[in-house]
Amino acid sequence: MSERVGFIGLGNMGRPMASNLQRKGFAVTVFDVNPAAVGELSRIGAAAAADGRGVAAVSDVVITMLPDSASVEAVLLGDQGVLPGMASGSLVMDMSTVDPLLTDRLAAAAAAKGCAFVDAPVGRLASHAARGESLFMVGAAAEDFTRVKPLLDAMGTTIHHCGAAGTGIRTKLVNNYLAIVSCAFNAEALALSQRFGLSLEKTLAVVHGTTATNGQLKMAWASKVLKGDTDPGFTIDLAHKDLTLIAGAAQAAGVPVPIADVARASFNAARQDGYGSRDFSAMVDALCDRLHITRARLTTE
Ligand code: NAD
Repeated sequence: MSERVGFIGLGNMGRPMASNLQRKGFAVTVFDVNPAAVGELSRIGAAAAADGRGVAAVSDVVITMLPDSASVEAVLLGDQGVLPGMASGSLVMDMSTVDPLLTDRLAAAAAAKGCAFVDAPVGRLASHAARGESLFMVGAAAEDFTRVKPLLDAMGTTIHHCGAAGTGIRTKLVNNYLAIVSCAFNAEALALSQRFGLSLEKTLAVVHGTTATNGQLKMAWASKVLKGDTDPGFTIDLAHKDLTLIAGAAQAAGVPVPIADVARASFNAARQDGYGSRDFSAMVDALCDRLHITRARLTTE
């Protein structure tokens, strides 16, 4: 018999992920504080519960895809939360991007209830989640990984088993450190190129032919901000949130990350200028606009 799946957090990421589970044959029970999000899943056949406790009561596996550490802690450990109501032998899988020290506490709380815990944060964007093409970084004991693999297969195409519980979220923070910081320095480099009056096409041709290039610039920016598309994607607000997590986790681990601190200040400045809900490639627009420099755009012919 296939697992009964609970899914809590039906936002930009959780809604398509839960939809894929439901469409691919799992019996899904959902909860979100936003009734409209629940309604969308109900329309494709998912059951709805009144709170986390209600989800726990009818699920063998409960997945959370929530905005931040505080909401995950409240939903999993709170009075009407999931873990107090889970039967022994059940499994909780948190897929949110959170503080790894919270992940460690959740794993311990699950173990104390006789439940398994998996952290499986998500790489790539909401558009990939909609197509069932997400990437997952999974921290799980071997038998728990085997148990959640069919669920992950229904939601994504690339699954990395990183190690024991807690390694998925730590891998995610390392990955996002690189992906987010490169947006900050790409913005500065391209603002400089624009101020110098250089041809953007020529600058990029040079950069892409040397080790100066990076994945953001080459793969993401070419089809986002440099074409004038700053619809998110991944927002400047989320990037700022992740840099806060990265700086905190690095400090707790005793690793200095001064570049994270500087990049975080740049992202915060962009938020204060009103760009928080734009795609994180719009960091270059925020900087050019602040300095009254012509925005970096590829000429379309
Ligand atoms: P979102 O804000 O769009 O969705 C969060 C959902 O959780 C909302 O529907 C909200 O109503 C619900 N929620 C909040 N508090 C709740 C509570 N206490 N109980 C029940 N429901 C609650 O966020 P998102 O973009 O879907 O991101 C979710 C997580 O995934 C975040 O940790 C984010 O960093 C991470 N992530 C996002 C992306 C992306 O591109 N958006 C990519 C990878 C990872």
